[in-house]
Amino acid sequence: MKVTILGSGTSHGVPMIGCECEVCTSPNPKNRRFRPSITVENEGRVILVDTTPELRLQALAVGLTRVDVVLFTHTHADHIFGLDDLRRFNDLTGEAIPVFGDRETLDDIRRIYRYIFVQTQEGGGKPRIELHEVQRRFGLFGLDIRSFYVMHGELPVLAYRFDDFAYVTDVNRIPPDAMEQLHGLELLVLDAVRYKPHVTHFGLWEAVHVAKELKAKRVLFTHLSHQFDHEVTNAELASHMALAYDGQVIEVG
Ligand SMILES: [Zn+2]
Ligand SMILES: [Zn+2]
Ligand SMILES: [Zn+2]
Repeated sequence: MKVTILGSGTSHGVPMIGCECEVCTSPNPKNRRFRPSITVENEGRVILVDTTPELRLQALAVGLTRVDVVLFTHTHADHIFGLDDLRRFNDLTGEAIPVFGDRETLDDIRRIYRYIFVQTQEGGGKPRIELHEVQRRFGLFGLDIRSFYVMHGELPVLAYRFDDFAYVTDVNRIPPDAMEQLHGLELLVLDAVRYKPHVTHFGLWEAVHVAKELKAKRVLFTHLSHQFDHEVTNAELASHMALAYDGQVIEVG
């Protein structure tokens, strides 16, 4: 399985509009962060988790030419506002794209992207997507996938496990039943928005604590704000932990 970090940034992205801090003006490309999403590739098929506002730019940056399935975590703007860019993948593969989320997510998508689901005049085309309620456990392209809830403040958000890799973003609390799903991981990608705790995201040291408890072999932090300089923060972390960066590719299994 190949995991690609399409975006490692928080909802504002890095650099942030109008910010002149050292990270936002840094020449290091690892300090430039699109909004958060990943792809998981197996058997030549590609699963995209979330469609950020930068989906087109992310696809161009890593040479992404196919999306076979989309999984959604939740419907905050930084996770869904690139959905219209799926049109290009419909054209490239000639297929409609199955989209999975929980019932609330699918309802939000029908409301926010109403034009997709009603008859309108012919124009630049619409994404061809098929909405499906996600199951707790299912198989896809040779991967054993599990979905389970973690807490994003008061909002339950879906986390996903693919064999021995888990993607857990937009979270500041992992309930015990979700912790149970996260043992024995080769790779954990986990939310850490800034150093200090936050009302809806883990702070870095909280995330480190959880990752240690789970004993994941390798840990990458995502949903990163401009408070983290890639090199400075990485030097503070244990050798099996690091900040993720855009375009990073990890082979798992
Ligand atoms: Zn987010
Ligand atoms: Zn800044
Ligand atoms: Zn969110």
